[in-house]
Amino acid sequence: MANHSFTAPSTGAIQLWSGTIIPTTRDAPTDAESPSHILLSRGGYVRKLGAGIYDYLPLATRVLRKISQIVRQEMDAAGSSELLLPALLPIELYAGTKRDLDYGDLLFKVTDRKQGIYALGPTHEEPITELAKAAITSYKQLPVSLYQIQTKFRDEARPRSGILRGREFIMKDAYSFHLDIEGPGGLNETYDKMFAAYTSIFNRCGLDFTAVEAEAGPIGGSASHEFMVNADSGEDTILKCPASNYAANVEKCEIGPRPAPSKGYFAGDPSGNLDEVHTPNCPGIEEVAKLTKVKPQNMLKSVLFSVRSSPEDLAKSGQEYILAVVRGDHDVNEGKVRQAAGVKSIELADPAKAAALGFAIGFISPRAAVGKKGVLLLVDRDAALGYDDAANKPRFWMTGADKKDYHAKQFNWQRDLGTDPLAATPHNPTTHPAGNLKATNNNLIVADVRNALAGDPSPRATGSTLITGRGIEVGHIFKLGTKYSDAMGMSILDDKQTKRSVIMGCYGIGVSRTMAASVEQNHDPDGIIWPTPIAPYHVIITTLSPSHMTVARDLATQLSTLGVDVLIDDRDERPGVKFKDADLIGIPIRLTIGDKALAEHAVEFKPRKSKDKPINVPLTQVVARTIETLST
Ligand code: ATP
Ligand code: MG
Repeated sequence: MANHSFTAPSTGAIQLWSGTIIPTTRDAPTDAESPSHILLSRGGYVRKLGAGIYDYLPLATRVLRKISQIVRQEMDAAGSSELLLPALLPIELYAGTKRDLDYGDLLFKVTDRKQGIYALGPTHEEPITELAKAAITSYKQLPVSLYQIQTKFRDEARPRSGILRGREFIMKDAYSFHLDIEGPGGLNETYDKMFAAYTSIFNRCGLDFTAVEAEAGPIGGSASHEFMVNADSGEDTILKCPASNYAANVEKCEIGPRPAPSKGYFAGDPSGNLDEVHTPNCPGIEEVAKLTKVKPQNMLKSVLFSVRSSPEDLAKSGQEYILAVVRGDHDVNEGKVRQAAGVKSIELADPAKAAALGFAIGFISPRAAVGKKGVLLLVDRDAALGYDDAANKPRFWMTGADKKDYHAKQFNWQRDLGTDPLAATPHNPTTHPAGNLKATNNNLIVADVRNALAGDPSPRATGSTLITGRGIEVGHIFKLGTKYSDAMGMSILDDKQTKRSVIMGCYGIGVSRTMAASVEQNHDPDGIIWPTPIAPYHVIITTLSPSHMTVARDLATQLSTLGVDVLIDDRDERPGVKFKDADLIGIPIRLTIGDKALAEHAVEFKPRKSKDKPINVPLTQVVARTIETLST
């Protein structure tokens, strides 16, 4: 389990509230959407200066420092060394790897007085490779792992939820360099160390999180993991198999074998004549469903991709376009489309070019692919049905009618494609529930090409089904392979004097996002409830009259000696205001000094997360009691 215990490496801080700025407010900002945005703003932690741009006030800075400290300790322990690269970077670096184009509008650019263009670093693969190229000249210097904690810039289309998705934010980014993938000193060894370091970091921050498999990129396999803080407000969908350790994000999640249709794929009589219906002003499936009263699960969604490939790859595969077909209530998964088609890179087809080929985007039916050279028809298992086994009757489908503003009811795979799509393919459909079914002429494949959903069969445990949850991505580790070293010419001679591309990994943590994610997970209606290891202060001493300051200072000094960080609320405010503010800013323990308790040589003791009324603890025992509570 997580180690949340309190450790005190040095003397704690003592801060008077009156000596700093903690501008608490009653009202949430008008654009506030999520609990962390509301509470960090109301608690005087952050203040908006522009869209996606925030001041970190003193309380927030202390939290960020504590998170960063944990990150540094674990990264150092994993053998990574800290450096600091510029945020202002010559654009040529990013142009060289074409990432200026890949990032597009996300990349912030500035112009200097000589009209030179610079990027504000969104992440630092290019500058670190540039540095490593110069500094690493012998294979004997590998492996090396380097990290920094730095401000990053991304011109997010929709900065939202305060510092959860900012345009300027703090990231820890690490990069490792290797000669090999496997074996001692290889990429896999460092990747595993980073996985362990990230697990320790997020445990030590007191977060409840899930490490999920993410899209792998060039190396394939389990080459990427995202660390997701479990929170209902999260933007990302996580899928988990309760029976195995498997967890993946929606882009990556595989689906276990789905039961094969009793009559085989595509088999079954038509449900009726193919009927065209006029569907004007219907931009999406939902509008079509409303107008035609056909449920989305009875529609086929056909999405056309063009294959981005080199002329050589194209000559090999012969594929220029892929028409992916899923059920109307399902979503096409691009990674699965790429994998099933065996191509590296795809993009949504250009509507004008598609139209010239006879594809009416928005109204495409599988028929449009028939007889077209270079077009692969890729059908998801749930869409490749001709018979409805559950209802025991022919499957009803509605598709586009291959012309603008028209749909077609009673589509039937065999009749309307003019042939049994798999007729020439020797297959026993009922015994092939897992593997892809490929037509012998290579122009049709039945495969898993949709996003996984709750209730789908687990890919790792027979009989178990997937469950879903929401998450906030706070960390991401990735085996890059030779993407940047090849693009930037970083190679090295090995012990046999053979020139080898250097193999890289990259590892990011959103430090400022982690602060917000912790609040998403740790709050109640009254405010934030910080986990002790990242709380800005461990103890707030609330005084109810100036005459209590001597006792307050004395207590604070005793606690500070033991490594406890203390905030003294010395303001001349009503007790109600002070208690409300203490709850709002979420310091783990509140000690209240008032005349009544003092008369009994005691102070009021209240842990923030306890629902119980404060109790009186004798002055002689309160320090021990505090340490004990912080340590559990
Ligand atoms: P997202 O999918 O949320 O946009 P990403 O996958 O593009 O993030 P990475 O490139 O993996 O982000 O960056 C590493 C880490 O930086 C992320 O795991 C996340 O914690 C953090 N991060 C990325 N973008 C932002 C942002 N706009 N604001 C705050 N933190 C961010
Ligand atoms: Mg990421």
